[in-house]
Amino acid sequence: MLQKTHSLAGLLAAESVVLYFNEPLISWESAALLMIGCLAGPLADIDKPGSTIARIFFPVSALLRFLKIRHRTLTHSLICILGLYFLLLPLPQTYLWASLLAYASHTLLDLFNEQGVALLWPLRMKFRLIPKFLAVKTGSVTERLIQIFLLVSIVLLPIIIR
Ligand SMILES: [Zn+2]
Repeated sequence: MLQKTHSLAGLLAAESVVLYFNEPLISWESAALLMIGCLAGPLADIDKPGSTIARIFFPVSALLRFLKIRHRTLTHSLICILGLYFLLLPLPQTYLWASLLAYASHTLLDLFNEQGVALLWPLRMKFRLIPKFLAVKTGSVTERLIQIFLLVSIVLLPIIIR
């Protein structure tokens, strides 16, 4: 999936947290949470050389490459999400859940991609939620439709919830 798609999913995840914790949508706190969602959404692709997020966090992506950590393995795995949960545990609940759910939204979206995800890394087995012939190709019309769905959800969710 494209970074734009992951940012939208991360934003939707963070917005859900803002609404769940009854934070006013127009506030510095919510702005920070939504920004975190936008950044945490594409963060797992730090393992993909050449991706924007890998260029932003070059030392980490270089380290992953040095350690021969392949794309859609460690950073997309359940063990990484669990590790992130414990790492973020000292943060206030809103920051913990906005960051974690936005990060996990990445793996969830990639599970619809045709290459699949090594969800149980270090096991090499790749998982996909739908059969390969239905899987979403990166940059395809289907991915564009997913982006539109996410965007509409981001706009409508606060109206429906409140
Ligand atoms: Zn990915």
